[in-house]
Amino acid sequence: MLRVAVVGSGPSGVYAAQDLVQQSRVPDVRVHVLDRLPCPYGLVRYGVAPDHEKIKSLQNNLRTVLEDDRIDFIGNVEVGAHGLGPEQLLELYHAVVYCVGAAKDRRLGIPGEDLPGSHSATDFVSWYSAHPDAAGNGFALAARSAVVIGVGNVAVDVARILARGADELRPTDVPQAALGALALSQVREVHMVGRRGPSQAKFTTKELRELGTLPSADVLVEPDDLALDPAYEDASAAAALPAVNRRNLDVVRGWAAQPSQGRERRIHLRFFLRPVALLERMGRVGGVRFERTVPDGEGGVRGTGAYEEIEAHLVLRAVGYRGVPLPGLPFDERHGTVPHAAGRVLRDGVASPGEYVAGWIKRGPTGVIGTNRPCAKETVNSLLDDAAALALRPVAADPLAVLRESGHRPVQWPGWLAIEVAEAALGRTLGRRSVKIPDWSGLLTAADVRGG
Ligand code: NAP
Repeated sequence: MLRVAVVGSGPSGVYAAQDLVQQSRVPDVRVHVLDRLPCPYGLVRYGVAPDHEKIKSLQNNLRTVLEDDRIDFIGNVEVGAHGLGPEQLLELYHAVVYCVGAAKDRRLGIPGEDLPGSHSATDFVSWYSAHPDAAGNGFALAARSAVVIGVGNVAVDVARILARGADELRPTDVPQAALGALALSQVREVHMVGRRGPSQAKFTTKELRELGTLPSADVLVEPDDLALDPAYEDASAAAALPAVNRRNLDVVRGWAAQPSQGRERRIHLRFFLRPVALLERMGRVGGVRFERTVPDGEGGVRGTGAYEEIEAHLVLRAVGYRGVPLPGLPFDERHGTVPHAAGRVLRDGVASPGEYVAGWIKRGPTGVIGTNRPCAKETVNSLLDDAAALALRPVAADPLAVLRESGHRPVQWPGWLAIEVAEAALGRTLGRRSVKIPDWSGLLTAADVRGG
């Protein structure tokens, strides 16, 4: 039997587990999918926005995989805690696949970034997704004007949540406290700002278009911003763009030509503005100073020395995620990833037997959920190529018993199912559908793991 640990139960981890058992090259592979949280599904549960129910329903596919007899979900086990590091994992398993994602936000590195009222979008996402490590209701939703820095899909998500009325979110699993805070939100102007042009923005067209379908928000685009885009009026430059950027440009162009519909909230989609400082007003953020940029002819932009300030008492920085080093594993600081060759972890340039990576910690925080499929497949193929040698190494007979002895309190599949039942019950008491439990003690009590 080949025993494999997959660390992380987000899409890349679950796809890796699936590939490990659904293959015919190596018989009898058993997989433990470990997660720091008592709940599975990673960013599908704690990152995909609550109003994106179709993407959320991917959890059903991931569930089917985790219910396979050859796979065990083991939550509430943190690699890096209770003496459990990469070295110890290799005493318990023949191979370990790290699928730990990219847990931190990238920094802007400009003055005022840490002023009260300025948050990473990842903190805001964690809050409305009921992540048990999320800070409480500390977002300045009494502000009338908010700035979202960045024009990727996370920026679109947080701008959309700010621009939706609470009634639109009530049917989702958004936690009750976040729903209450959003119901009282005074935010009316949401400025989503890119440092480059609309044809260079990172959002995908489906997500962008959705902003134009919100019942209580207008999307406004300044024709002057659009006119700066190298592909705006140059048909050959537009034709040379990847299809997604061409479609994005068309959508934005349509909005620029459309007058305001006079809805309650407004999303101002701005471009060619590079943030240079967050401005302080009475000890909190009061606005953002941007430098106007123009295309540099090489896909980037250069500053013009002209500045614009946008008033905002809430700033969400949505400029990408970043991988976090796991003690005991090599880490490439520059890219925020673990160095690897076809998924094999490299220590000083040499493949380390039994150690693998997949997902964002392998390739960086890019791509959609489906991108994790080929990524996990490549890693698992490498592992299966190495399997004969890996299986020779003796490992613990019962890794779960060892974890318990060393102080971990694992939440297994029945514990997770009990959390689901508790969330459904919570929803019923609130007159809503299933509502997420937002705190550790609530989750562990529901899973019947005491003192965890
Ligand atoms: P992203 O796609 O990399 O977008 C980051 C944005 O931040 C870009 O507009 C980037 O501009 C900007 N930026 C970076 N550094 C900046 C700086 N110093 N100053 C100003 N702007 C800066 O990252 P993301 O939005 O966090 O998304 C991460 C991944 O998750 C993506 O692959 C995304 O598609 C995926 N995701 C998908 C969905 C969905 O499918 N619905 C939802 C959420 C996330 P430049 O382009 O100029 O660098």
